Amino acid sequence: MTEHDAAEPRRVLVIGAHPDDPEFGCGATVAKWADQGDEIHFLILTSGDQGNRDPSVPPGQIAHVRETEQRTAAEVLGVRSVRFLRYPDGMLENNLELRRRLCGLIRYYRPDVVLAIDPWRAYQLHPDHRAAGFGALDAVRGSHSWNMFPEQLNGVEPWRVKEVYLFWSGAPDYWEDVSDYMERRMEALRCHASQMRDRAEAFAERLRRAAAESGEALGFEYAEGFKRLGTG
Ligand SMILES: [Zn+2]
Repeated sequence: MTEHDAAEPRRVLVIGAHPDDPEFGCGATVAKWADQGDEIHFLILTSGDQGNRDPSVPPGQIAHVRETEQRTAAEVLGVRSVRFLRYPDGMLENNLELRRRLCGLIRYYRPDVVLAIDPWRAYQLHPDHRAAGFGALDAVRGSHSWNMFPEQLNGVEPWRVKEVYLFWSGAPDYWEDVSDYMERRMEALRCHASQMRDRAEAFAERLRRAAAESGEALGFEYAEGFKRLGTG
């Protein structure tokens, strides 16, 4: 594994399906890269309106709560901006409409690096996680082609993302040493209070254990693992 040159700040776009996906998937890496000077933006495809066990609370209400929680968590991590596309939770589809929007947004943000969900993880049950991962990758592939959604290229250049890091991967090949950033990740995770309820410590313990296991072979106290893809 290599560390990127901290002297050269990068633009990083994190694409998640739900509020809290970045904190569960790559929160410590985000905090570390933000501290190193990278400009980081979150793009969250739904607002997590199914994340509620109380039938008396309407989906719109919990979506509003969850967006606020995500914005607070992003602030803790040092993220520059958060944008929600507000697709219905649980019903995200990787179709041409999603690809068109994500291509347009990649051409707008011009990220050097995209962090996204690994859609190939075996037995990934959540349809939104599969759709968000494939949608992100298809848009990364399309955004640098002059022929893909050319109507977007009115005054905008195609954009080639240099690297993609997939989180929640079953086949990680890059580990970020996040030994100094696990507490920030936990603090950000706790911002998702509507999802944590009384489970915050149990989640934190599970994430700590997984990050410790990921770091063990490399001699790091904690690491987050990714599958890294080049796009050239
Ligand atoms: Zn999720």
